[in-house]
This record gives sequence, C-alpha cells and structure tokens, in this order.
Amino acid sequence: MKVAFFSTKEYEADAFKGAPSAGIHEITYLPHRLDPVTARLAQGHDAVCIFVNDAADAETLDVLKQAGVKAVALRCAGYNNVDLKRAEELEIAVVRVPAYSPEAVAEFAVGMIMTVVRKYHKAYNRVREGNFLLSGLVGFNLQGKTVGIIGTGKIGMLTGRILSRGFRCNVLAYDPYPNKVDADEAGITYVSDLKDLLKQADIISLHCPLMDSTRYLLNAETFPLTKEGVVIVNTSRGGLIETNALIQNLKNGHVAAVGLDVYEREGEYFFRDGSGTIMHDDVFSRLLSFYNVFLTGHQAFLTNEALSSIAQTTLENLSNVEQGEACKNAVKG
Ligand code: NAD
Repeated sequence: MKVAFFSTKEYEADAFKGAPSAGIHEITYLPHRLDPVTARLAQGHDAVCIFVNDAADAETLDVLKQAGVKAVALRCAGYNNVDLKRAEELEIAVVRVPAYSPEAVAEFAVGMIMTVVRKYHKAYNRVREGNFLLSGLVGFNLQGKTVGIIGTGKIGMLTGRILSRGFRCNVLAYDPYPNKVDADEAGITYVSDLKDLLKQADIISLHCPLMDSTRYLLNAETFPLTKEGVVIVNTSRGGLIETNALIQNLKNGHVAAVGLDVYEREGEYFFRDGSGTIMHDDVFSRLLSFYNVFLTGHQAFLTNEALSSIAQTTLENLSNVEQGEACKNAVKG
C-alpha cells in the first residue's frame, strides 16, 4: 500500500524503518498534521497513518475519500479523533494499535505520581541553581495510601498492580466493566460507584478512554467529592478533566498536586517546538504557573519497546486491509 504518514517525528520514522515488516508498504513521511487542508497531500496514496492529534473528522475524511484513501491507520490506541460514523459511510477502514506497551504508560503514570508527591521536579531545578534547602520539598509515603484507579483496562490494571504489589498502597478501582480475576491477582479492589472512589482516594490516576460518557469526568461537581489534599494524575486523555474546574480546585487548595501528560486542548501545541513563541492558551499558562502542577507533553507511551510494537502492528494492520482480510484491530462506529 502507498501510505501517507502524517505528523511524522524522526523517532517514529526510525521505528517504522527498523520494524520486521519494514518495506512491505511504501510510506511517504509528512511533517504535516492531518486536517481538511493537509488531507489533499494524501492524493495518490491508499491509506493514511495518523497519530493522536491528527483530525480525521467528517470534513477531513471526505477530502481523503476524494484523494482515493481507503484506510486510516491509527498508530495509537485512542480513536476519539476519528469520525467513525463518517468513515463507515465512506467505506474507509479504520485500524488502530490497541496495545503496544501498556507497561510504558503504567510505569510513566507511577513515575508521575512519585514526581508530584516527592517533588522531584522542584528538587531538580533547585539543586541545579545551587539551592540545597529542603524546605517545601516534604512529601508523603505511598505505602498505606489509598490510590483510586479509574479504568482498569491494560494500563490501569498494570498501574494498580505496581502500586499495590510494589508500593503496598490500598488500590481501589472503578470500571463499568470490571475484571475481577485480574484485579484480585493485582491486589486491586473494585468499588461499584465512582463516588466511593472519589471520596476515599488520596491519589487518583485516570486510565479510561475519552468518550461522551467520560468527558469532564472530573468537573466542578465531582472535584468537591474528592478528599481534601487529593493528588490527581492523568496519563489518559485531557478531556477527562474540566481544566477550569481543576484550576479552581488548585487555587482553593483542595487539590494538593497534579501530574498531567495530556491536556484537553493539547492538539494545538503538543508534539511541536513552540519555544520562542507566545503561548496563547491562558488556561494552559495558568496550569503552568502552579508550583504543584507537573506537565509533560503526551510522552507516557514513548519508549523504544512501544515505538517498535506500534510500527510492527500498524504495518500488519495495513496488510490486513490491503488483502481484504478481517483485521482484529479494526475500529467500528
Ligand atoms: P483499555 O481499553 O485497555 O482500557 C480502558 C478501560 O476503561 C476499560 O477497562 C473500560 O471498561 C474502562 N472504562 C470505560 N468507560 C469507563 C468509565 N466511564 N469509567 C471508568 N472506566 C471506564 O485502554 P488502555 O490501553 O488501558 O488505555 C487507557 C487510555 O490511556 C486510552 O484510552 C488512552 O486514552 C490512554 N493512553 C495514553 C497514552 C499516553 O501516551 N499518554 C498512551 C496510550 C494510551
């Protein structure tokens, strides 16, 4: 297949060129983010390969169809950026990489919890400036604390396991589709009502997908249900948190610390070098101004293992589509 690869980063191109199935598809690596205008660049290609902040909305899919594209291959797990209904109407296949390295994200989430609880980020800057004072760096032990995992799929389950088995936290979880067998083995206890988790957790880690039902799961009404001094970590999708409500709860001190790898309007900024330019997003700038907020640019997945796995699965998915075979990683509306 001829594949137009949008939003290319050099580390992705390297992983695709080094994959066992490299060479079976002809890939054009493009730096552009997919949108209705850049979609025209797919002319003459059979498929597009896209990442989390490429927009495969209805308008873009219409342009892709006219350009002759038959498949959208997501090189990520989430597919909230694809209009699946329109893709089906246009008979454009959508495939994804449901699991590449849940360990990469789970380990990052635990690292983020440690960072904001033990203030690694503040200590790093302080020591570099020759300031060896410890005032303001007091953290708390994770052992014995209650961690609430929202979403116990591949990543949430692993995160809970590390925290329960490794740190000896009391791990609670909420998931509308609980997996009792794996949870028992991981040392995770389910609550049947999300509110119970919100009320009890010292630390909340988000691991559910972004859907209409989960958008703003943490919002102006649900933040007050959480414990005074709660720590929040989000490595899932920015839209799970109503950022303005989070800011209010940081300002009034209800939320003690936050680690975010994702942000609800990250599409405009993430994966690009904006240094030396003006940040126009006042909400993001306000987040950055808090001493107790640690932000990263959607990098939880970024390990060699994950990149290799993404590349190989994507190439196999494209082969399935090319050969008209059923693809186990197809996404339907
Ligand atoms: P998964 O599909 O294995 O698990 C998602 C779980 O969420 C499922 O068990 C599902 O039942 C549960 N869920 C659905 N609705 C829920 C709700 N309302 N409340 C609580 N749980 C709910 O997905 P995964 O591989 O574990 O990934 C989780 C999320 O992590 C993805 O959706 C993606 O958005 C995000 N992610 C982020 C990165 C990153 O680099 N930051 C990388 C990969 C994935």
